[in-house]
Amino acid sequence: MKQNKFDVVVIGGGPGGYPAAIRAAQNGKTVALVEAKDLGGVCLNRGCIPSKTLIAGAETLQRVKEAEEFGIATGPISFDFSKMAERKDRIVAGIRKGLEGLIAANQITIMRGFGKFISPREIKVIGKDNAVLLTDKTIIATGSEPRNIPAFAFDYERIHDSTSLLELKKLPKSIVIIGGGVIGCEFASLYAAFGIEVIILELMPRLIPMEDKSVSNALTKAFQKKGVKIHVNVQVTGIDRTADGVTVRLAQGQSFSAEIALVSIGRVLNTNGIGLDKAGVIVRDNGSIPVNDQMETNVPGIYAVGDIASKWWLAHVATHQGLVAASNAVGKPARMHYNSVPSVIYTHPEIAMVGLTLDDAITQGFQAVVGAFPFQALGKSQAAYQTEGFAQIVLDKRTGQILGAQVVGHEASTLVAEMALAIANELTIECIVNTIHAHPTIAEAWLEAALVGAGEPLHLPPKGEKNIFQDRQDRKNEESYLSE
Ligand SMILES: Cc1cc2nc3c(=O)[nH]c(=O)nc-3n(C[C@H](O)[C@H](O)[C@H](O)COP(=O)(O)OP(=O)(O)OC[C@H]3O[C@@H](n4cnc5c(N)ncnc54)[C@H](O)[C@@H]3O)c2cc1C
Repeated sequence: MKQNKFDVVVIGGGPGGYPAAIRAAQNGKTVALVEAKDLGGVCLNRGCIPSKTLIAGAETLQRVKEAEEFGIATGPISFDFSKMAERKDRIVAGIRKGLEGLIAANQITIMRGFGKFISPREIKVIGKDNAVLLTDKTIIATGSEPRNIPAFAFDYERIHDSTSLLELKKLPKSIVIIGGGVIGCEFASLYAAFGIEVIILELMPRLIPMEDKSVSNALTKAFQKKGVKIHVNVQVTGIDRTADGVTVRLAQGQSFSAEIALVSIGRVLNTNGIGLDKAGVIVRDNGSIPVNDQMETNVPGIYAVGDIASKWWLAHVATHQGLVAASNAVGKPARMHYNSVPSVIYTHPEIAMVGLTLDDAITQGFQAVVGAFPFQALGKSQAAYQTEGFAQIVLDKRTGQILGAQVVGHEASTLVAEMALAIANELTIECIVNTIHAHPTIAEAWLEAALVGAGEPLHLPPKGEKNIFQDRQDRKNEESYLSE
């Protein structure tokens, strides 16, 4: 077996691994990137990009159906899902090709195969390429896969995980989705937009249970309006294949039938079988790897990033961690901060949030209040016929600091960036109020929400709120009076 020496070896070429490899190479290091499947990882090949490409198709269909509102006659509207699936595959393949070019341009050696430690400084690659890589620094970025539960007999024809569902070329008539978390809700929204009968079964008392209640309630209402059937507080005990579909059994005795089922109740981390014991890297019972804020494991020179090292299973968090790990690996100190992680749920309407919810902020001892503004009251939303939803800012009354923000509605995924910047830089509500927002835009929702939060609403009737600018000025005056 060939032996090669590299300054840095990265195991896993997903959104955590490949940016780490690029950053290390940019710093003049020799780098090998070990990938067992496709460059781009889950995000590009089996997650973010294929799902959002299909969702873009569903949104376009929705827009065409709304054409009459704008005085546009379309005649009968139809769509061909197999063409949407082809477009998805084409887009994924195109981005993957671009990524391969980028890796080559950075003079990174790609090793095609499964990588595992055989000692803290040796990685064995088995697959298309076979070699032992000697290395000073290693970045582990092996990601996650859908959880395969033996009680649910996945056959990837009728009983699917998210990966096999994304491969479908033909739509079913109905789907039962087990798990009302982010992935389950995104697929529910997608399928409902295509007119498919959708049933969601969720163990917890509400959809997207980890998110703010106001956001979860808004999504539930939007789904109910579209005819999605939601059952919460239910426990699935088994799925049976029937002649024409599946039947899902509940502990409560009820059962639900549909043409196919999606099981979206979590993922497993790819930390098994990669020789972590040989490297001496500590791994928790749930498969995650503990790291410090420099993304370093308990073994100096071995870093872990992405899903395996995070409570946030998000591509952009993986990328940020990858860049931090690589900077440290090349001797440029960098640290991870998690106070401003935006997350988006690509349902219709879109949902995005960053920072603290009101409940979290109060629990953490802030004098927190919320300023909320409905899209209905924005000129641009009216013009674009996108009036569903709201934007809200959670702020500390004493300091005016922005602690969190949630937005539900058109382009929430883009809108959240302004609040991520504000929270990352510890900006106050005055910073938003004093920033001129272009008119008419949906981003004006932040300005309006900030004014509501400050007690100076502009395009909403006053509700007798206390003006926090005045309140803070009064307090300052009082403090300076007392100190005189
Ligand atoms: C349906 C779906 C939709 C999603 N949508 C979004 C979204 O919109 N936005 C978002 O931020 N996140 C989204 N995610 C989550 C996102 O995809 C992950 O958080 C992200 O891909 C994690 O990146 P990673 O680098 O840690 O791992 P991965 O993307 O899982 O990549 C790990 C790579 O390592 C390779 N690998 C594993 N073990 C080895 C080994 N031993 N040797 C060599 N190679 C190995 C794998 O083949 C894989 O390519 C979605 C996920 C799913 C399933």
